[in-house]
Amino acid sequence: MRLYLVQQGQKVVQHINTDFAEASTVTRSGSCSLTSKGDTRRLTQEWFYRTLTNGEKVLRTWMAYSPSKASLFCFCCRLFENVNTPNGSKFFSSDGFNTWWKLNPKVRSHEISAIHHQNYCKWKELESRLQKGQTIDKKEQNLVVKETKKWQEILVRMFDIIKFLAKQNLALRGHTENDTSINRGFFLELVHLIAKYDPVLREHLVRSKICGKISITYMSPEIQNEFIAILGNKVRQHIIGQIKKAKYYSIIFDSTPDISHKDQTSQDKTAEGISKMILSKFEADGLDISNCRGEAYDNAAVMAGRHSGVQQRIKEINPKVERYEILLKSFIKPGHTMECKGRCRKNDMASLQRHSRYFRKTDRDRQEEQEVCDAIDIDSAIKDFALKKSRRVKF
Ligand SMILES: [Zn+2]
Repeated sequence: MRLYLVQQGQKVVQHINTDFAEASTVTRSGSCSLTSKGDTRRLTQEWFYRTLTNGEKVLRTWMAYSPSKASLFCFCCRLFENVNTPNGSKFFSSDGFNTWWKLNPKVRSHEISAIHHQNYCKWKELESRLQKGQTIDKKEQNLVVKETKKWQEILVRMFDIIKFLAKQNLALRGHTENDTSINRGFFLELVHLIAKYDPVLREHLVRSKICGKISITYMSPEIQNEFIAILGNKVRQHIIGQIKKAKYYSIIFDSTPDISHKDQTSQDKTAEGISKMILSKFEADGLDISNCRGEAYDNAAVMAGRHSGVQQRIKEINPKVERYEILLKSFIKPGHTMECKGRCRKNDMASLQRHSRYFRKTDRDRQEEQEVCDAIDIDSAIKDFALKKSRRVKF
């Protein structure tokens, strides 16, 4: 604020051309009035000029009038003096000076006071530094801008590398990722390859090596996962946008266990619990269940149960939803097609054959995948990354 005001100059707050007659006529008793002659004093434009001994008039640049408070302030003392200074002049108090019958000698005494002189010098020094672009704040500001730009450039490269690997269906991680490893996986190897030709990444890698563990590298497995999650969310948003545009949609639902063989879908494994979870996801994504036209699950009773399974519950909410009876798990897992054949009921196999085309990747699917990848806005992904203040992962 101080920098802004000094940059703008006192002119913006001086209000020298105000009509002081109405707002600034005050009697000794404090009420606004023009009647009690002798006791009434008012501020005039004349007070904004100091008359030198040679008769020359000089503008009192420090003097600022506030129309809303109908008071006078000292521009430099307000900016540079602690308002709580004991016995401080009214000119830098928050209420300002408005006892107009004391204009003489208060204006002059403030003007020649040591404290005013100090603040005036501080003001002029800052003003001159600002004009030359040499303030500490300015220098700091430039450093911050430079530092921000550097990290943005590094992040753009990291996100782009991950986007490239995702587009090519390549795994990011290597079996061993330390410096002695001969193959650190696609992500790290690509970072090092690009660094050979790109000064930004090269400098980043050199700095990371020198600073060791304390430096931010944006290359740890945890950060890679965070990048993937952010990009995944962007893909998700893009797909949801496409669904909304198309209006009608179908759902396929299946779950997967994590590394500790714990199912990742929901705490509540009942049909009611899973139905609620699916519906709340729809709501969170802004998808209208009444536009859903198809559903497909595995054949577990909780999902496919004819009377109270998830698919029945969804159908009760929206009768237009058509059921696809498909053994998803068996079908999706590569190499399990034969096993599926042996275990499928007759109508399941017929259904599977009928609908399998939905699950085969066509050239059009691949093209759509590429388009989704290309549609990801890296700048907006970086913004999302920067907004995540409470990180649990290490850099
Ligand atoms: Zn002052």
